[in-house]
Amino acid sequence: MIEDEAATEITRGVAAWETIGAHLAEREGERRDVMRRMRFDTIAVHGVYDAQAALANQGSIIEPLFLTPAQHFAESDQMETALAYRMPAWTYTRIANPTVHYLEETLALLETYGSDVRASACGTASGMAAVFMATEPFLPVDASLPPPNIVASARCYGGTFMLFSERYGRERGIEIRWVCEPLDLEEWASNIDEGTRFVYGEMPSNPTLAVFDIPAVAALAHGAGIPFIVDPTVATPALLRPLTMGADIVVQSLSKSLSGGGLAIGGALIARHDIPSRIGPDEMLHDFATHVKLLPFRDHGPAMSPFNALVTLSDVRTVRSRIDAWSRGAMTVAEFLAEHPKVECVQYPGLASFPGHDIARRDMWLVDGDEHGTPVNRYGSLLAFDVRGGPRAARRVFDGLSLVWRATDLGRIKSVATIPAISTHQQQGEEGRRLACVPSHEIRLSIGGEHPDDLIADLDRALSTV
Ligand SMILES: *Cc1c(COP(=O)(O)O)cnc(C)c1O
Repeated sequence: MIEDEAATEITRGVAAWETIGAHLAEREGERRDVMRRMRFDTIAVHGVYDAQAALANQGSIIEPLFLTPAQHFAESDQMETALAYRMPAWTYTRIANPTVHYLEETLALLETYGSDVRASACGTASGMAAVFMATEPFLPVDASLPPPNIVASARCYGGTFMLFSERYGRERGIEIRWVCEPLDLEEWASNIDEGTRFVYGEMPSNPTLAVFDIPAVAALAHGAGIPFIVDPTVATPALLRPLTMGADIVVQSLSKSLSGGGLAIGGALIARHDIPSRIGPDEMLHDFATHVKLLPFRDHGPAMSPFNALVTLSDVRTVRSRIDAWSRGAMTVAEFLAEHPKVECVQYPGLASFPGHDIARRDMWLVDGDEHGTPVNRYGSLLAFDVRGGPRAARRVFDGLSLVWRATDLGRIKSVATIPAISTHQQQGEEGRRLACVPSHEIRLSIGGEHPDDLIADLDRALSTV
């Protein structure tokens, strides 16, 4: 009898904390709804951190940095409720953290800006951790289903190419069906069948800036009842928000343009609620990002450092104006390179000669328009150009750069160049590079905040060496 009474008391205690938790969740939901009605820059600056949240943080007007790994609980009932995930709590930084949470809430709002789509986000230690956590939950073995396959654009980041082809393909026997010409809808369609677990695309792609028709590919995936995952890292939500165009999950490398300052590695997956899938429990399909965060992510352990989250959050506040300026700089540089006699071709979605320019012009807009609110196309800060004379000439030009940094990096306040064939796309080999259309005489150039005149002078000097 005593045991029973004790059990009832505990249940009562948990129920009390559940009520407190419901209030907390309701309050944050209201805050989200208030912010949802604001403009993009306002959301980027404030997220869900308001004066009331500051009251609990010594009045700090900037989101505080919580470096501590663990949360203290007032009593055992709160601990039990929190660990059962029955009230908002963060518990332990590998699962959740208040600083990371503020970043996640901001990203979920920015990625769904201008739409009715509701989404949740999960911050990760890197962009690759986000790609992994966004895809792996769809790949469990299930004897009742046909052997699994993935349909993905081959025009993707080298790390993603290796994760899919080596880790999933070679090591786990999952068939990877690469789409070599992402503008060709027939190629996507003919690869999707009863075994396909998800469809994956990157836009614009790193390093060759390939674009594709996001709404049309989303329709193909949804026709088959499977999720469509998009990596729009190069565009950022300031130019492209795939969740509002039919995508189910977005992955971001926060190490790149979304932060820009170059002080931290990080990533995030942002998922709309109620996604389609042939596999996975109902809770996973209802709120994928939260499910991933609470279960597989907790068990794999790719948590984001709270310090990195704060640095990133600080940079995200200015993403719209930064991407506007860098895109204008990139357009100026792309036009200069397109006219240069030592340059064979330039890949930049903003150039009329670029394959897929029509789709880029249809879909890539600076959010909320220019300073007068007039809609303007912007095409991002990344471009690539092929040097006449082959790989040797490309290396000469690359080595001749003095203002632009040589590094495997992009989306930076400082302009950076790389030769993808010997860096980011080296390990996938000749055949993998052919699939991904990465020629060995191509230089990838990420335009930062410098004046375009100085960048053009540096490029012109380097090109004059061949
Ligand atoms: C860099 C990059 C990634 C991986 O991000 P990390 O933060 O370096 O792990 C994924 N996708 C794209 C398009 C990238 O450029």
